[in-house]
Amino acid sequence: SRTSRLDRFISQNSEFSRSETRLLIAQKRILLNGQAAHSVQQKVSQFTHIMLDGACLNDKQPVYIRLHKPKGVVSATKDTQHTTVLDLIDHPQKSELHIAGRLDRNTTGLVLLTNDGAWSRKISLPETKLSKTYEVTVSKPITCEYAEAFRKGIYFQYEGITTQPAQLVITSDYTARLTLVEGKYHQVKRMFGYFDNEVLALHRTSVGEYTLVGLAEGESSVLTSEEVRHYQ
Ligand code: URA
Repeated sequence: SRTSRLDRFISQNSEFSRSETRLLIAQKRILLNGQAAHSVQQKVSQFTHIMLDGACLNDKQPVYIRLHKPKGVVSATKDTQHTTVLDLIDHPQKSELHIAGRLDRNTTGLVLLTNDGAWSRKISLPETKLSKTYEVTVSKPITCEYAEAFRKGIYFQYEGITTQPAQLVITSDYTARLTLVEGKYHQVKRMFGYFDNEVLALHRTSVGEYTLVGLAEGESSVLTSEEVRHYQ
């Protein structure tokens, strides 16, 4: 869970019970981010630095990573057949990471990874309305009616939902830039599928304010706490 009451955390991570936590607090034996804890009801998260009698009870640091996913790499943490996005990352905490918004195997572009579940939930929630921008190449010419249809929303029979208004900028007969605020399964391919137009290449250039700037294919970089603060 995202946050926990201090007494609950102590009972789950030490030999002391919830009721004993009150005494530990009175004796100033618990430090939260370096400050003496003052209440059993204080909220702590996985990233609060919690010390009891001078020992750290959790030392997980939040990590946020941008990756430029090449074609053929799967958005999974384990796969027996294909290279995974995790295989491309070299970070001491890489085993803790999960993917915030998957891309299909043949799609290229920006993938975000983190060990912070609250952050990935927030950026994935439809209510956050984070824009995801895709460069699309299709097999048949794109006409103006696509832009109108995508703005109104496409009905997805399987889920029984209509897609949120999406912005389409036609860049040539066979290419366009599509901006979505959600991420349904195979969404871009299914939206063009409505016009019976096959997506031949798909590339995600941005997710919210995060872009591929400075990242060659296969490269990744760590986001700073300044860059992720907006969604915390
Ligand atoms: N939409 C798709 O169809 N595929 C992706 O990889 C991303 C969005």
